[in-house]
Amino acid sequence: MTTTSTAAADRLGRAQRAVAEAGWGAVLLSAGTDLRYLTGYNAHVSERLTCLVVPADGEPVLVIPELEAPMVEAAGATTELRPWAETENPFAIVAGQLRKTSAAGTVGIGNRMWAEHVSQLLSAAGNPWELAGPLMAQLRMRKDAAEAAALLEAGEAIDRVHARMGQWLRPGRTEREVGRDIAEAIVTEGHEHAEFIIVGSGPNAASPHHLLSDRVIDAGDVVVVDIGGITEAGYCSDSTRTYIAGGVVSSEVADFYAVLQAAQVAACQAVAPGIPAEDIDATARNIIDEAGYGPNFIHRTGHGIGLDVHEDPYIVSGNNLPIEAGMAFSIEPGIYFPGRYGARIEDIVLCTTEGVRRLNTGSRDLISLGA
Ligand code: ZN
Ligand code: ZN
Repeated sequence: MTTTSTAAADRLGRAQRAVAEAGWGAVLLSAGTDLRYLTGYNAHVSERLTCLVVPADGEPVLVIPELEAPMVEAAGATTELRPWAETENPFAIVAGQLRKTSAAGTVGIGNRMWAEHVSQLLSAAGNPWELAGPLMAQLRMRKDAAEAAALLEAGEAIDRVHARMGQWLRPGRTEREVGRDIAEAIVTEGHEHAEFIIVGSGPNAASPHHLLSDRVIDAGDVVVVDIGGITEAGYCSDSTRTYIAGGVVSSEVADFYAVLQAAQVAACQAVAPGIPAEDIDATARNIIDEAGYGPNFIHRTGHGIGLDVHEDPYIVSGNNLPIEAGMAFSIEPGIYFPGRYGARIEDIVLCTTEGVRRLNTGSRDLISLGA
C-alpha cells in the first residue's frame, strides 16, 4: 500500500478540521510518522528542519531543506512545498507561513519534534503552544481499510520469520548470531528493514526489553523472541513467541506458560467495540493474578501499532478509552522470574465491527526447537 495523494488530501483535510475544532491556529510537525501519515512522505530526520505547517484555514505547506525537495515528489506526495536554501533561516520561514495563514493562535507541536527545533520555532513565531500528540492520535488511532491491509501484510511477514526460527535458534549459538539471521529474514520475508530484535535466552528471557547479547544459548533454555520490522508502506510488525532451545520443558515452565497462554487468549477474545482498553488489560492480569504470578507480570498488556511500533491506544490500567473498530494493538502478557527465565506471547489484533481479528496466526504453544 502507498499513501495515495487522495488519501493524503483527505487526511490533511481531517487534520485541518481537527485543528479548527481545537481552536488552534495551526499544527507544526517535523520529520516523523505524523508527517508521513498526513503527506505520504517519509522525511529524513536530521538537524535540518523539515516542518509541515497545517493551518486551521489555508493551504498546508511543507517547509523542507532544498536538497531534499526532490524526494517529496519521488514519494508521490503532492503537498505544497517551501524549500529553504542552506543560508536561509527555516524557523523564520515557518513563522512567516503562520502569519500568512493568520495562524496567530495556539500552535500544536508534534510530540517527537527535537527540542532544538522547538526552541527556535517558538522564538521565531512567538505563539502559545501545546503538544499536538493527542490531536494526532485521534486522527491515527482508527485504521482505514488500506492501513488494516498493510498491518495484516506486516503481520504475515513476521509470522513467516517466526515459522523459520528452527533454522537459527539452537544450543551453542549466541543470541547475537541468531539475531543477525533473524534480521536478514525480516527483510527477505517482506519488510523494508528490521526495527528491533529481542532474543532473550535463559535469565535474559526475564528482562522484557533485553535485545541481544553474546550469551551462548544452552540446551533447555527458555528463549523469548520478540521481533518486528517496518514494511515499505511504513507499517510495523511486532510479534513474540517463546521457544525452548532443544531439551525438555520442565513442569515449572510448562505450568506458568499454560497460565500465560490462557491469559493471552482471554484478552484477545475480550476485544470488541466498546470495551475500555483497561478492561482488556484486566482480563489478562486477573488470570495471571489468580494463578499467583501477578507480581511477575510487570508491564502493560499492549500498545497500539501502525506507522509507529508503539502508539495509541495503550492497553493499560487507567486507560478507559473505549476500543473502536479499526483500532489495532498488541496483546502481549508476560511472566518473568528475574535471574531464571520468563515468557511472553504477543499478537497484533484488529478490532472490527464483528469483534477481533488476529493479525498474527502462528502457533502460540511453547515451541521446542531442535533436539
Ligand atoms: Zn513485541
Ligand atoms: Zn509489542
